[in-house]
Amino acid sequence: MTNLTRLEAEARSALLDVTGYRLALDLDQGAVTFESSSTVRFRCAEPGASTFLDVKPHTLHRVTLNGGQIDLTGFDGERVALTGLALENEVVVTATMSYSNDGQGLHRAFDSADGRHYVYGHCFLDAAPRVFGCFDQPDLKAPYDVSVTAPTEWVVLGNGAATRAGEGRWVLATTKPLATYFFTVCAGPYVSVTAVHDGIPLGIHARASLREPLVRQAEQMLTITRQSFDYYHALFGIRYPFGEYHQVYVPEFNAGAMENPGCVTLRDQYVFRGATTHDEVVTRSSTISHEMAHMWFGDMVTMRWWDDLWLNESFAEYMSHRTLCEATEFTDAWVDSSMARNPWGYAAERTPSTHPVAGSPAPDAQSALQNFDGISYAKGSATLLQLIAHIGDAAFIAGVGEYLRAHAYGNAALVDFLGAMERASGKDLRGWADAWLRTAGLDAISVETATDHGSITSATVRRTPPAAHPADRSHRIDVAGFSRGTEVFRVLTTVDQDETALPELAGQPVAAMLIPNASDLTWANIKLDAATVAAAPAELSAVPQAQARAVVWTALIDAVALAEIDPRHLLAVLATSWADESNQSIIDRVGELVTHRIIPAFIPFGEQDGAYAVMATAAGSMLAESEPGSSRALLAARYLAASSADLDLLQRWAAGHQLPVGLDGDSDFRWVVLGNLARRDAVVPAQLDSALDQDRTMAGNLRWLQAKASGPDTEAKVWAWEQLTGAHGRSNYELNALAAGFWHARDQDVLRPYVARYFADVPALSGRVGEDALARVAALAYPGNVVEASTADKSAEALRHGDLTSAVRRAIVDADSALREALLSRATFG
Ligand SMILES: [Zn+2]
Repeated sequence: MTNLTRLEAEARSALLDVTGYRLALDLDQGAVTFESSSTVRFRCAEPGASTFLDVKPHTLHRVTLNGGQIDLTGFDGERVALTGLALENEVVVTATMSYSNDGQGLHRAFDSADGRHYVYGHCFLDAAPRVFGCFDQPDLKAPYDVSVTAPTEWVVLGNGAATRAGEGRWVLATTKPLATYFFTVCAGPYVSVTAVHDGIPLGIHARASLREPLVRQAEQMLTITRQSFDYYHALFGIRYPFGEYHQVYVPEFNAGAMENPGCVTLRDQYVFRGATTHDEVVTRSSTISHEMAHMWFGDMVTMRWWDDLWLNESFAEYMSHRTLCEATEFTDAWVDSSMARNPWGYAAERTPSTHPVAGSPAPDAQSALQNFDGISYAKGSATLLQLIAHIGDAAFIAGVGEYLRAHAYGNAALVDFLGAMERASGKDLRGWADAWLRTAGLDAISVETATDHGSITSATVRRTPPAAHPADRSHRIDVAGFSRGTEVFRVLTTVDQDETALPELAGQPVAAMLIPNASDLTWANIKLDAATVAAAPAELSAVPQAQARAVVWTALIDAVALAEIDPRHLLAVLATSWADESNQSIIDRVGELVTHRIIPAFIPFGEQDGAYAVMATAAGSMLAESEPGSSRALLAARYLAASSADLDLLQRWAAGHQLPVGLDGDSDFRWVVLGNLARRDAVVPAQLDSALDQDRTMAGNLRWLQAKASGPDTEAKVWAWEQLTGAHGRSNYELNALAAGFWHARDQDVLRPYVARYFADVPALSGRVGEDALARVAALAYPGNVVEASTADKSAEALRHGDLTSAVRRAIVDADSALREALLSRATFG
């Protein structure tokens, strides 16, 4: 598989100026392939020169350059050489293309609920050539004129406003100049809710089988959309430039969403079909606002090369949470960001694959894709927060406006962004950027106090840069102390040395909990002092600010990962503090991390039943104390259903009897119950099959696959592994479901044979499954629950000698690092 290098991209953009694409797609040719015709007009700076065009067809029929047919003998399946270029050129490519089922290119999904098919385009990061012949790199932007032929009952949407031009014929309005990776067409019997806001036509779309929840939830989606438009218009001083604004909830989508100008695609699990929690709505709202920020930052101004992809994501990540807090009802969105995003980024910092936010070399497109991780999103956003603390918000916003206006419809690089910030602030940012953007790793921050008779006599903030990545980062942070639910003190300080005195704390009473970075202003590994760790079970839930509690939870979870505290202590905190937690982002994210990571990886196998019992007891008391039918009660019920060992309760719920309020007929909840029963070997296959019969949907099919795969006996594992790694044409989501269910068993002997098979069979999926999808499959299928030295040895062996694609290699590096954390913790604490 070819992989565009940065040098090739630079040479091609120095030579070419693409002035327009005219595309005709025929999606009425059956379920396997479609016809693609693309006409590309471009100027060449050096007449007579040569270049190449990207196209990855099923069958390439014809390529003409300036009317002359190009000899395609010897076509390598990916690049067509164009020689003897004129000043003005036109290349026409006609090809038959394959639909995908791995979320890249034109993905075609089958909805088992009603037998209908849905298509959407996802060209990020380098999949545009799977849809049309093009010059596929981010800095060759051009306007698009698109026409689509589709089955008559289908709706067509795309970057330009779509108009029905006849039976099954659609014409899309000419777009503004777009990068190839933003091209999309969504086509199928989608159902829609439309509105107009401030002159902008809005559309929300999803599969026909999701009509009822879509209609029920559209107003909330539209409200966030309207509020975000108003906020960004006021903040940037630039109108949304791409005409209509469509949000299409599409099936089997690999990421959360994609910011295609005018036609954003989002994963359709965001159309919640059952009971819905507050934090799920926060997450969806944050995604909506995130993609909207990209319309300016990323879409209107696009990075020149993939090494600056982080800047798009950091900006959108930061901006979406700011927008939710300032312009919507979700004023606690930063807590959600802290809990949902920071543990992801901090985990990324701990693996050998850690990298600077900016300035990773990205010598080619695929290596850029691998660095699109928690560092690009969570750390990048935190870094922008520190930039704002450094230069002031007014300068930041002025700089953003200048940057957007200077490069509108074109491309820019980090140096342009920093230049705009320097001009707006009058500050030299080179040192700041070197420390925060161009150096990997994170500082450890702790606060040390001396005390006398219950009073603090002196306090020092200690900053410890990582030995492997020394840097001189300045941090704007606060330090707060709490005792029995009362804030005892809080000071704001700048930490720009390895030891910073906090004279303001002298004379203050000793607090039961001393929390550095209590408002989560900076990016650092927060090390709580021993007294605070010891006091957490009794004191944490009384800390009055959710943001400070989130910082403590994250610090405790990181300390478990670093083998600094016993995972059993984290369970002790959970036992006392989780059930009393009021912030639902904290409840859900802590619940998820403890259920899916802390217990299976860090708690010894023989103690895991006891650990899940702690979880179930806490969830049970949360359920008992929550208002029936409330979002909090729903969260509690889900965790109780996932962790309880009470087979009578689970069987009652599986049968639909005596369910918690609001969960009658809720298929998703029933699958949580059945998943737990399946892991405990307490269902017969017929019970799962009958549940599937009652939920013949795409979601039901996935939950069924996952539950089947999680069966504890050898027979279930033989079946699941074959489905996962055999040639069954399974979609990206089906592979994820099988992988997510697989590594559960009551007896580890059932799983052990599959450790070696993982390293043989999963790398062999490359070629059959696109790299973007394979990265997820390889991470989910990794034997991280077999916490044994031999698993780590096999990882090391595969990394040394295996023939691995970059996606599989990266997944193994990161999963191996997480496994070694668990091994170290078990070696330390038994
Ligand atoms: Zn984004």
